[in-house]
Amino acid sequence: MSKLSELLKKVYSHNPVRVEDLGYLLSLSKEEDLREIFAFADSVRRQFAGEGILVRGIIEFSNFCRNSCFYCGLNKSNKTLSRYRLSREEIMYSLSKLSGCGIKTVVLQSGEDDSLDPYWLKDIIAQIKSLFDIAVTLSVGERERYEYKLWRDAGADRYLLKIETTNSRLYKSLHPGMSFGNRLRCLQDLKELGYQVGSGNIIGLRGQSLKDIAEDIIFFQAGEFDMLGIGPFIPHAKTELGNEPSAQAALTLKALALTRIVTKDTHLPATTALGSLGQDFRPQGLSAGANVLMPNFTPQQYRRLYEIYPGKRCIDEPMGSCSISAIGVARRKKSTKSGCSTSSR
Ligand code: SAH
Repeated sequence: MSKLSELLKKVYSHNPVRVEDLGYLLSLSKEEDLREIFAFADSVRRQFAGEGILVRGIIEFSNFCRNSCFYCGLNKSNKTLSRYRLSREEIMYSLSKLSGCGIKTVVLQSGEDDSLDPYWLKDIIAQIKSLFDIAVTLSVGERERYEYKLWRDAGADRYLLKIETTNSRLYKSLHPGMSFGNRLRCLQDLKELGYQVGSGNIIGLRGQSLKDIAEDIIFFQAGEFDMLGIGPFIPHAKTELGNEPSAQAALTLKALALTRIVTKDTHLPATTALGSLGQDFRPQGLSAGANVLMPNFTPQQYRRLYEIYPGKRCIDEPMGSCSISAIGVARRKKSTKSGCSTSSR
């Protein structure tokens, strides 16, 4: 057996996995090595997540944000961005489209909107749960525990809050006014309240080492998350990191593949950011451990305003349609009606 396949087996079977082993695997760059890592991850995906691609529709319902994250185009210092907040009617209209495609999970995402009334969102969750047979995932950032409880009691099923990086010093340097400890507190609260919790990181941040990414993967293993978004950094001109280079697709795919190998059955999206690196790398993601796609159901006129990074895929396509190409290229072609991708949970 080659040294690489022995190491992959070791990483697959050890809990906790060793940071040195992950760091070494992340450093490999030869084509044949990458192929072997991706193929191993693909077989783990097949074994633990099956052949189906889960489709989770996303509605980005507000781009207001109180934070100044150094990488994100929604940061509050970006005065050139027109801000929007969808009405309840607009959200319900998008939902009817999404549900009409047979999709069984909606992700309601926004910036950290100070004016978000927790009771308004609670009513929307309750209305969605009474009208549609659909799981509700929230992704609205750091909030108080009572708000998480309010939404959970109204029927919210899952919550997505990326840790972004587990290096607390790096976290601090990229998130002025925020605290790593509070982010961990939020993830803990969400778990205790019975949410299925999703997290994730950004690959290729300025000052991030391979060891940092390895530590992220160890955090993912310990956290037993429902879903993990592993996305590449893409620079946005109106941010502090606007002049930094984009993440390498290969490094992002390696981190994705190793996350699959280590966490086994976690749902891993081929992220929209992975589809927005100039080329669409989502098919490669789906062949290297990913099993989820997240088509966009934000109303067309608002979609380009949710510009967390530039060149975001699926800005102009009709609601939900632009995942089909990625599925077709990667594995099985499975589309139902035009504008829809196949459903899953
Ligand atoms: N307010 C919510 C949603 C944030 S936007 C929250 O805090 O959870 C969703 C995700 O976009 C973030 O978690 C971050 O990982 C990602 N993101 C933001 N800017 C990015 C960039 N320039 N490149 C890649 N990913 C980015």
